Amino acid sequence: MTAPAASPWPGADPPGVKALLAAGLAQACRYAAARPDCQVLACVRYGQLALCAACDQRRSTLGKGTMPARLPDPGALLRIAAARDARERAASELRHAVAAARQAGHPWRAVAAILAISRQAAQQRFAPDTAHPPGETKAHR
Ligand SMILES: [Zn+2]
Repeated sequence: MTAPAASPWPGADPPGVKALLAAGLAQACRYAAARPDCQVLACVRYGQLALCAACDQRRSTLGKGTMPARLPDPGALLRIAAARDARERAASELRHAVAAARQAGHPWRAVAAILAISRQAAQQRFAPDTAHPPGETKAHR
């Protein structure tokens, strides 16, 4: 049984890794495209040579005097991205759950009580746009 290339960062996915690289928030390992076990995001640099942890372990230190420069753990940013994505999924699930509860006949009072917010706040946040009185602004999401 072959496992996919193990990522050292929980929640890391290729789009998340690519987004970090595209935004210049992390550096790519020198061997990102060349080695199947490469972790892609660099965690250490030797001069201009950026390496991930896996490639750093494979690096021969014989005859190389360049001191390593540790980079900030890219996994910390991936963790933020994973939490952001989880929050967006939860917000979507909450909208659907409230809509389903309303469809089932539960009053705004019940929705508000569960969420520990006022009935008006629940309506402002979850009522379909058509239910908003003119001039009322929808909360930014
Ligand atoms: Zn690597």
